[in-house]
Amino acid sequence: MDWASELGAWGAVSVAEEERGAHSGDVSGHAASLPQVVVWPRDGAGVAGILAWANERGVAVTPWGAGTSVEGNPIPVAGGILLSLARMDRILEVSLEGKYGVVEAGVKYRELNRALAGTGLHFAVEVGGDATVGGMIGNNAAGPKAVKYGATKEHVLGLEVVLADGRRMRTGSKAWKQSCGYNLTQLMVGSEGTLGVIIEATVRLTAVPEFVEVLVAEFGSVEEAVGCVGRMRGLDAGALEFLDGSFMGFLGEAERDTLFCEFHREGDGEAAERICLGGGAVSVRRGTEAADRERLWGARLRAYTAAGEAHAGSKLLTTDTAVPLGTFGAMVGYLREELVNRGLVGYLLGHVGDGNLHVILPYKDRAEWEKVKEFSRAAVGRSLELGGTASGEHGVGMGKREHLEAEHGREAVEVMRMIKRGMDPKGILNPGKVLPG
Ligand SMILES: Cc1cc2nc3c(=O)[nH]c(=O)nc-3n(C[C@H](O)[C@H](O)[C@H](O)COP(=O)(O)OP(=O)(O)OC[C@H]3O[C@@H](n4cnc5c(N)ncnc54)[C@H](O)[C@@H]3O)c2cc1C
Repeated sequence: MDWASELGAWGAVSVAEEERGAHSGDVSGHAASLPQVVVWPRDGAGVAGILAWANERGVAVTPWGAGTSVEGNPIPVAGGILLSLARMDRILEVSLEGKYGVVEAGVKYRELNRALAGTGLHFAVEVGGDATVGGMIGNNAAGPKAVKYGATKEHVLGLEVVLADGRRMRTGSKAWKQSCGYNLTQLMVGSEGTLGVIIEATVRLTAVPEFVEVLVAEFGSVEEAVGCVGRMRGLDAGALEFLDGSFMGFLGEAERDTLFCEFHREGDGEAAERICLGGGAVSVRRGTEAADRERLWGARLRAYTAAGEAHAGSKLLTTDTAVPLGTFGAMVGYLREELVNRGLVGYLLGHVGDGNLHVILPYKDRAEWEKVKEFSRAAVGRSLELGGTASGEHGVGMGKREHLEAEHGREAVEVMRMIKRGMDPKGILNPGKVLPG
């Protein structure tokens, strides 16, 4: 069968080893898998044509935004068609009055914000990866600013989706407030390409803060740091981040549990400083000028990359548990002990303002993989005991499928299966992801 010439009717196609290789893995350590073909549809009609073609033949289709996932989410484990939205990258409409933007799924969120510069509005979700809006919706990505603005799901007003058999469906509207029928928009958010392919998104645009102050506070213990975060609840915090003391030491900084905070209201940085000094901080630094803010935020920004670079030749497993706010300190304590007991190297950093904690674990071979995987299982187990979740922002992908039933219960997972069967009866959309088994 000559897939390339048949699929070429709807966009650019490549079967070149290099392109297939470039779309075979994300940034996680999950095993790469080559698709048979990479397709870049031109438009929504192209996506619809490709899905109708694939559904008729039972060929797997894995949507791809920028491939910056960290849980194997866009890896085409069943081969088939890798459907890249990268060339559907037009900003279709911006309404400053309506405070919304309409974009094709392949628009990078940074591009959208560049286009909005000077308008006073922005798409407020920020992730470290150079992600597309479609991929952020796919994973319900969050990041440091979620403590103020929420995750991607809070910013999606409506979608246009191509269903598995090629039909096109509109969900939601351009209104900021909606209460009409089942919320199919939110069903698609976080569905990781397993229920349909998003071709267009209407996203909420929110006000860019006029004032930004960064504060970095070092503590002798995580409990003190978390206690201070609890006392900052009346402040207009744009980010509340945590870096573990030994990670700070590794980054060449003082070896202390450290808070990286951003405030958006004048006076709140000063108030936070008082809270931190009263709550045991041994040092507090603040800055409002762009250069100072960048310098203060430096260690937090380079943390993930530095951990990777220090273990060149290793792969990284990154845990993503999120626990109820008051239990963040307990979770950090538990994970530190587990690292020591298991003789593992692991770097802790987290979005302490919303209870989301990552441990970055390098591993080289199968034996080390088994050990870090066991650690990750223990972390999820503890998170669930505390009333938390296996994944705060990275999604289920390949690595968290085994936890779905423990987190949601058998009945909820059965309902998820019913939804999947109803929307994708032949199971062509991103097989091997989200649902266990
Ligand atoms: C350095 C670095 C820092 C990061 N920091 C963060 C962070 O702070 N917070 C965070 O949440 N994540 C973070 N990430 C992870 C990653 O950037 C996000 O998960 C992001 O949402 C992935 O977007 P993408 O465009 O790369 O999507 P991809 O990785 O290509 O795809 C993501 C998922 O969505 C599906 N998908 C893609 N496009 C569509 C579409 N149009 N329709 C339907 N399904 C689709 C894919 O099949 C896949 O399941 C980081 C990654 C890196 C490399």
